[in-house]
Amino acid sequence: MNLEKLNEVIINEPSYKLKQIKQALFSDMIENWDQALTLSKKLRSELKERMPISIEGESFFAEDNQTVKVLIDLEDGHKVESVLMKHDKGRNTVCLSSQVGCSLGCKFCATGKMGFVRNLTSSEIIMQLLYFVRLLKKENKRVTNIVFMGMGEPFLNYDNVMEAIRIMNNEECFNIGARHISISTSGIVEGIEKLSKENLQVNLAISLHAPNDKLRSEIMPVNNIHHLSDVLNAVKKYVDLTNRKVMFEYIMIDGVNDGEKEAEELSRLMRDKLSFVNLISYNPTGVFKPSKKEAVEKFKKILTKNSVNVTQRYKFGVGIDAACGQLACKE
Ligand code: SAH
Ligand code: SF4
Repeated sequence: MNLEKLNEVIINEPSYKLKQIKQALFSDMIENWDQALTLSKKLRSELKERMPISIEGESFFAEDNQTVKVLIDLEDGHKVESVLMKHDKGRNTVCLSSQVGCSLGCKFCATGKMGFVRNLTSSEIIMQLLYFVRLLKKENKRVTNIVFMGMGEPFLNYDNVMEAIRIMNNEECFNIGARHISISTSGIVEGIEKLSKENLQVNLAISLHAPNDKLRSEIMPVNNIHHLSDVLNAVKKYVDLTNRKVMFEYIMIDGVNDGEKEAEELSRLMRDKLSFVNLISYNPTGVFKPSKKEAVEKFKKILTKNSVNVTQRYKFGVGIDAACGQLACKE
């Protein structure tokens, strides 16, 4: 599937045709052009030939049936991974990738280990969403939430990610509210600054994972470029401008960042009422060990004692390597 071809195909058609095509694709969720009955037969056959919309990929279903991972085939032979997580009360979250691989090499991350291959186009980002939209349609369900927490650093592919978000947002397309879309960044300052000015109500999450520069640089080399204080300053400006909450993600790694000292240090950084910490279980990628239960409880207690808002992330899809940081194609 390549949405970029759309403009080429319909260049001589009146503009309402584009509207009909978008509606068929994103709202009626057609899986082949024959289902687009609002279009003329001629246009359908042209679209069929020049812009196929089938999405090829391999799906993996977790035992609990709550998590589905897909490995989508891209036109150039690379693959990209996306995950669907079904929650209670009809909430269905899709975790999208923004790049094939990632250049930032965080020590704990499987994607980081594979290095950077290339940015995804906005069409390839939308394709991941469309895959699950079609899957859920068969169960009479819909995608309600989107997180950019798959492979890659969204702010190093800023324009394509934003273009995809606008399509997700568009009432005539997926009509998914910006408040239901979250971007997670390792702390690319320019990206945070740009997002502050977008006038888009998307949620921002920062992968913090360490409360001081020394430790953060050890596990996240990006900290050598964007120091902790620069990231926190950019977040402060973001909060001042947007008045929106910011989530600080913190993976709990045994003996690395999960001590009392780090909990106190982290508390001192979280001065803003609109910030909260999300503690994440480390999904082993062969480097570290996940924190012990007691350490997590103690860490949480210290944050709470210091009036920091804390939440904990439920683990999804571990059995199918679909958990955070485990998305790395085994090509
Ligand atoms: N590049 C972006 C978004 C993708 S990673 C970022 O780093 O924020 C999405 C989240 O998964 C990040 O918080 C990342 O730090 C986390 N993550 C990476 N590896 C992980 C692992 N092994 N276990 C748990 N979370 C991990
Ligand atoms: Fe890249 Fe995010 Fe993984 Fe770090 S955690 S290597 S920034 S995908």
